[in-house]
Formats: sequence, structure tokens, C-alpha cells
Amino acid sequence: MTSGGLTGTISDTVARIRQEVCRLHEQLTRWELVTWTSGNVSARVPGADLMVIKPSGVSYDDLTPESMVVTTLDGDVVDGNHSPSSDTDAHAYVYRHLPQVNGVVHTHSPYATAWAARDEAIPCVLTAMADEFGGEIPVGPFALIGGDDIGKGIVATLEGHRSPAVLMRNHGVFTIGASAKAAVKAAVMCEDVARTVHIARTGGPLVPIEPRHIDALYERYQGVYGQR
Ligand SMILES: [Zn+2]
Repeated sequence: MTSGGLTGTISDTVARIRQEVCRLHEQLTRWELVTWTSGNVSARVPGADLMVIKPSGVSYDDLTPESMVVTTLDGDVVDGNHSPSSDTDAHAYVYRHLPQVNGVVHTHSPYATAWAARDEAIPCVLTAMADEFGGEIPVGPFALIGGDDIGKGIVATLEGHRSPAVLMRNHGVFTIGASAKAAVKAAVMCEDVARTVHIARTGGPLVPIEPRHIDALYERYQGVYGQR
């Protein structure tokens, strides 16, 4: 399909989101979160029940804004010359069920996915984890690709946590954010803490952070930290 179905303001907005989503994929390779074509970023299109997602099977070097695919929140293509990512159903389910989420990222980043392979949540033993995740990074259920099973597992797990990241068992990482950039940041931070906590445990027992300290760190970071 081409852009025939999109006109006016929505067409301009979609063009902007195509650029944003394309550029954010550079971060997946920059931070070594993906191998071959295995990860993807999507963003909700503001003001429309649409999302923009990576095309299926296109290598990161070849991605362009024009090659991004626009779908409905049921995963049906409305604009684009490629098939959407095979993870489109999972992204779409998240947007349908979590209205505050405007960006979703999926990777098989190695340290985080190793925790998923063990069905083991990453315990909150670093202040940086308390800041970004507000506690442990939880594990979601095993789910086969296709249909809503992965999406259901992501939403059911994250609804009970402050974490914007979930380790889907035997699979990999899904992150959510108020923006696609925030979801990418969560994916980068998830892999970073997965690696550090793994290394820490090889040297001895992990030391937990008290829940009240996790709360204080999370509230400060989410509310105060950074440039206003
Ligand atoms: Zn995957």
C-alpha cells in the first residue's frame, strides 16, 4: 500500500512518527541490544488509532522513514510498502490496553534474555534499578508468537509493577514508555542492569535495597531528576 489512505494533519503526523521510529532503531544497534533483525520499536500516532512499527525482516542499516509501516491498533496495515514486524500483534495489544503508553520496544538483548531463559526476575539491588524500574524487573509468561498471547502476558505482568520492562519467559524483553524514546531508554537500561546484576552475583550474594529506599529513589528520579 501507499499513503493513499492518510491525508491532512494525520499525514504530517505520521511522517514525523515514521522519522522518529526509524531513528530510534539506531539506538538498538548502538547499544548492542539486537542481532540481525531481531528487535523492533513502535510508536503510537497521536490523535489517531494508529501505530508506526519496523518492517519485518529489513536489516537495521536499510531502514528508512519510508520503509516504516503504519498499522491500526489491531495490526492491520494502512500505509507502507512492507509487511510489519512479526511482533506487531503484541505491540498493538499493548496500545489497545494501556492508553498511557505511546512507545513499545522489543529486543532479545543477551543478559536480560538470559534472566528470561531462567524464568528469573532481576532483583532490585542497584539504585539505578530503583530509579528507572521502581523495583525488580518481572518475568512474564511463556507465550507463542502470533495472536494476542504475548500482548496479554506483557499487559498482565506490567499492570502489577512500576517497571516499564518485562522479561517474557524463554523469549526476551518488552518495554513500554510514555514516548517511544522512553521505551528505548528502558530497553537500554534493562540490559545494562541485567548485565551488572549478573556480574555481581558471580562474585557473591546480592544485597537487596530496602523497599522504602526503593520508593524514595523512584519518586525522586521520576519526579525531580533531569532537565526540566
Ligand atoms: Zn522476539
